[in-house]
Amino acid sequence: MKLVRGMAVRRGRERELRVMSISIPRDMVWTLIVFIAVNLTLYLILLPLFPEGLLDQPYTFKVAFAVDMVLNFSVGVCVLLPTRRPAFMALGGLLTVLVDLDHSLSLLGFTAPSRPNHSLLFLTLLIIALLLTVRKLEYVFTACAAFFAQLTMDITNFPLLYPLIPARMEFPNPTMSLVWFTIALTFGFLAAIKMKGRP
Ligand SMILES: [Zn+2]
Repeated sequence: MKLVRGMAVRRGRERELRVMSISIPRDMVWTLIVFIAVNLTLYLILLPLFPEGLLDQPYTFKVAFAVDMVLNFSVGVCVLLPTRRPAFMALGGLLTVLVDLDHSLSLLGFTAPSRPNHSLLFLTLLIIALLLTVRKLEYVFTACAAFFAQLTMDITNFPLLYPLIPARMEFPNPTMSLVWFTIALTFGFLAAIKMKGRP
């Protein structure tokens, strides 16, 4: 097997991380790291604060969850189609799946809070963190698109306005799914506009 080596190289003004023969933009790696860090940090902070009534039983339907992941990834890719860049589509798909990191404990067999990060609080903190670290709007828009792509699949039953309204909110379906998808796609277009004309 070819040796995997990480090496930062300069190409024009863009720094890239070379892993084997695939070049991954450095900002893309950072977006992924920041997304996971904000998600898990907020989840751990909210664990003791989350209302009892919103605890999830240990998740046992692992096959259903795997199917869910594939669907989430596909919607994430779809909403980033306007960028016409496979790397951004893949990033969108991956981030859409990763919103569900706030299911991790119930997936591991514990009774734990469900979906505290399916909230505008998470989205706001994520935007701030990305603006402070990656500092490129196309990545911020991609992350926003992924967040709303995740809501498209969940449709309803998440605490969107936590902590203002700690309860899970019920939205009319499928109207709301269409609304989330439209918002996600709008962010996909914004990402495309932002990177237009760049190599
Ligand atoms: Zn979800």
